[in-house]
Amino acid sequence: MKYFVFSDIHGNLEALREVISQIDVIKPDLVVCLGDIVGYGADPDKCVELVYENADIRIAGNHDMAATGQISTDGFNPSAREAIRWTSNMLTAEHIRILEESEISRKHDDCLFVHASPISPLDWDYVYTVAQAIEIFQYFDSKFVFVGHTHIPGIINNSASEGPKAVDGNLVKVEADGRYLINTGSVGQPRDGYNSACFTVLDTDRGIIDQRRVSYDFASAQKKILNAGLPEILALRLENGE
Ligand code: ZN
Repeated sequence: MKYFVFSDIHGNLEALREVISQIDVIKPDLVVCLGDIVGYGADPDKCVELVYENADIRIAGNHDMAATGQISTDGFNPSAREAIRWTSNMLTAEHIRILEESEISRKHDDCLFVHASPISPLDWDYVYTVAQAIEIFQYFDSKFVFVGHTHIPGIINNSASEGPKAVDGNLVKVEADGRYLINTGSVGQPRDGYNSACFTVLDTDRGIIDQRRVSYDFASAQKKILNAGLPEILALRLENGE
C-alpha cells in the first residue's frame, strides 16, 4: 500500500500544483490531505477545488474550520486573523461545504491521520517533541501516526527495542517493532528554513517512509498575496521558509 500524504497548503496554489503533479509520478493507492487547505495564501478557492479532486481523505485543519466559521479566530495572531477574514469572502457555498465535510481524524489500516495532536484534535496542540510522541503512542495503537500543523517535517520512531527517538534523514526504513509519528511538513508555508513544498510517501510493501520536497514558483505566490492586500509578512516568509 502506498500512501501520499500532504498538509498545510494555506491557499498556495503554485506549491500545491507541484505537489499534486507528483501523484502521477508516484502512483499512490491513497492520497491524504491533513488540512489547512486555506488561510494565509491568495488562492484558497482553487486550492479547495484541487484538493477535492485529488485527495481520497480530507482532514480538517484549524484554518479551514475558522474560514468556514466552525471555530473562532480568538487563538489566531493578527495577520492570520486578517487572512481568515479575507479567505472567508473568497469561498463559495460549495467550497464551504467541501471544507465542512473534512474529517477530524481518520484511521486507515495501520495509519492514523490528523491535523494536530490526535489526543484532543480540536485543542490544536502542536506536536514537536519525543515526549509528546510517547504520550500519543500510549493512547493510539496505529503503527503510523501522521500529523501536520507545525509546518516542520520530521519523524519520531517509538521503537519497542530501542526506545523513542527522532529519526535523522528523510528516507527511513520501517522497522518491524517501530512505531512512527510522522509530521509531513507544509506544502504552502514551510517553516523549517527551506522554501520548497513538503509531502510524504509511505510505502508499506517496501517498508519505506520518504519525506520529499519539490521547489515551486514562490515569487508568483508572493506577488499574489501582496496584490490581494494580505499582510506583507505572509508573502515575505515564503522565501526563507520561516
Ligand atoms: Zn497550518
